[in-house]
Amino acid sequence: MSARLGSELDGWRVEEYGRSRDGVPLRVFLPEGDGPLAGLLTAAQHGEEADAALLVRRLLERVPGTETRWAVIPVLNPDGLLAGTRQNAAGVDLNRNFPASTWEPGETFTYPPGIDPEIRVVANRTNRSSPGTHAGSEPETQALTAFVERVEPPLVVDLHSPLELIFVRGDVPPEVTGGLAGAAGLPAQEEFDGHCPGAFDDWLAERGTPVLVYEIEHAGLPALCKRHLPGLEALLRS
Ligand SMILES: [Zn+2]
Repeated sequence: MSARLGSELDGWRVEEYGRSRDGVPLRVFLPEGDGPLAGLLTAAQHGEEADAALLVRRLLERVPGTETRWAVIPVLNPDGLLAGTRQNAAGVDLNRNFPASTWEPGETFTYPPGIDPEIRVVANRTNRSSPGTHAGSEPETQALTAFVERVEPPLVVDLHSPLELIFVRGDVPPEVTGGLAGAAGLPAQEEFDGHCPGAFDDWLAERGTPVLVYEIEHAGLPALCKRHLPGLEALLRS
């Protein structure tokens, strides 16, 4: 491993694909060259899921942009990450704001970040969000849908926390799902109990883009890297 300035990444090209509600650049890391992409990896759509963003950053340091055909967005919601909130600067849960047929008006409730898993029960869903004034109302959502429509990734992997599972939507190659699930020891499932209207994966599934919602657990970064980086690294290099 060679030493370099902390902000430098080997072979990755950074592009600003939009701005957040608060005007923060939305950045995508693109592999070298202009060929078609193999996929799009995203994280931290919920700003309280900083651990997923840190994990993806470690991945960008391990895999040079010359050795992959994946595009990577480590932070979909920089406003929320900076504020330590699930929502963006307008109080919107971006993963309820996508222009899918499932979008619903009205507030949504989720668990407070960092809640003890033992009291993770519906009665304690007190973290209030807006789904936006209308579907696709938020600049982060608009920028991400426009980016997907421009580059047409054949597969999306969307990292979240802390459910510790892989949710499979659409026609994902079984070897991809099996590779990630096997490497990390995560269950892969096609059904999901939660109610997530207007989710990114709903929008992707409806437009025919296969997607894995990859949920890591709450853990320290060394444990997360040990468990999840091998499979994700293999995915980016495949
Ligand atoms: Zn999430």
